[in-house]
Amino acid sequence: MLSMADFNLYNPFEGLLFAGPFCFLCGQPVSADEKESVFPAWLMARYNFAHQEVLLLDKTITTYQNLNIPCCTVCQHQHLAPLEEKVQAAAAQGLIGLRALDEKLLFQWLGKMFYGMLVRELIAEQDPLIPPTYSLSDDIRMLDKFQSFFKVLQSIRVPMQFADFVPFSLFMVPVKLAAGELPFEYRDDLHTMVFSLKLEDTWLICCLLDNGIIKEALHRLWQPLLGKQLEARQAAEFLAQVYYAAYLFNVIPEYFVRPPKPHDTHLIMDTLIDDITATVFNPWQLTGYAHMFEEMLKRWGITEAEILRDPNQPLSFLFDAAGNFRENLNDETEAI
Ligand SMILES: [Zn+2]
Repeated sequence: MLSMADFNLYNPFEGLLFAGPFCFLCGQPVSADEKESVFPAWLMARYNFAHQEVLLLDKTITTYQNLNIPCCTVCQHQHLAPLEEKVQAAAAQGLIGLRALDEKLLFQWLGKMFYGMLVRELIAEQDPLIPPTYSLSDDIRMLDKFQSFFKVLQSIRVPMQFADFVPFSLFMVPVKLAAGELPFEYRDDLHTMVFSLKLEDTWLICCLLDNGIIKEALHRLWQPLLGKQLEARQAAEFLAQVYYAAYLFNVIPEYFVRPPKPHDTHLIMDTLIDDITATVFNPWQLTGYAHMFEEMLKRWGITEAEILRDPNQPLSFLFDAAGNFRENLNDETEAI
């Protein structure tokens, strides 16, 4: 039986309490050595990126292993360690293991890394190396988004049931790992709230605050790809589509706790999206998409101009002119 105190959600956004000595997850006071790594130690060890550098928005350079956030020992041991164990065991089996996991766990796992990066950025902003021209903590709309997301991320700690929705869209994309390619890749975007990781044969791409709407909207993209294993450029195209859709996504889901009754074992969350005064997606624009695709194709040096050579038939590695999936990309003569 849980006490009512276990149901209390923490809201660090009220006083922007990020740098203070408080656990990021529950808000309890912590000592200076009570910390949680943003990227889990097992992941950094497995893909050998603990010592790689990270550039924060205020131009501070640090390493992945130095990206820590304040976290009490209770949250570390009771809530985060069990989550890590489950994901680590699943990831050891590759795509099959990850598919067998509850999607909510992957949302929590990816969401915690996203939120950890965000907290580090917000802490850096309070005492920046170089004062930014744009600051996250002055952006009311961004703070609204983060606050809404953090409510449901607390499902890591507080038993929580989502009434008739999932807060996120998760794509699990099988990929071929060709020789010379990195086994691990990572990309995130604080503004659109997409977090993605490639773990050998799988890209995990999560839109963290869309109530599943982006996945629904991209149905015609991913449905024909079910069961397919994508080559790197195909995966880049898929990423571009998801990141661009998230960029166009224009509403902020809000979450409300149903008043708990004395014998409840979990919180029940309801949601609301204001699609009356706002459109859910801003209009899709070819140049905007091409720009995103170019960004994803950087390492192949493919430019926006090449993507748009035929504006009626923009470059696609996923589908041919007839709309069929391109099975053997490398066997075909490339147009570019
Ligand atoms: Zn805690």
